[in-house]
Amino acid sequence: MSAPERKLRLTDIINVNIWDVDSKPHIVVNYDKCKNCPTKACVRLCPTGCYTETENGILFSYEGCVECGTCRVVCPMEAITWTFPKSGKGIFYRFS
Ligand code: SF4
Repeated sequence: MSAPERKLRLTDIINVNIWDVDSKPHIVVNYDKCKNCPTKACVRLCPTGCYTETENGILFSYEGCVECGTCRVVCPMEAITWTFPKSGKGIFYRFS
């Protein structure tokens, strides 16, 4: 008899990784541009929920970023300045 198959959720996979967060953000958001954004796509498409829509606008935190680049691609306002973290910082993937 084999062991029951366990399905992994995205959060299970992401949470096995390790972050060495730099004190300097590698993503900078121009919140003035966000005010007129018709889609707020970053809020729905960031896989780790780095963007949150609040009544005062977009709230962003870079600490849980998995460096996928999605927010840079989907932002219709070009409000995101995106770079990789400096060498040795950011996410260290442990799941393969
Ligand atoms: S690069 Fe990916 S994980 Fe990082 S903030 Fe943008 S969408 Fe989220």
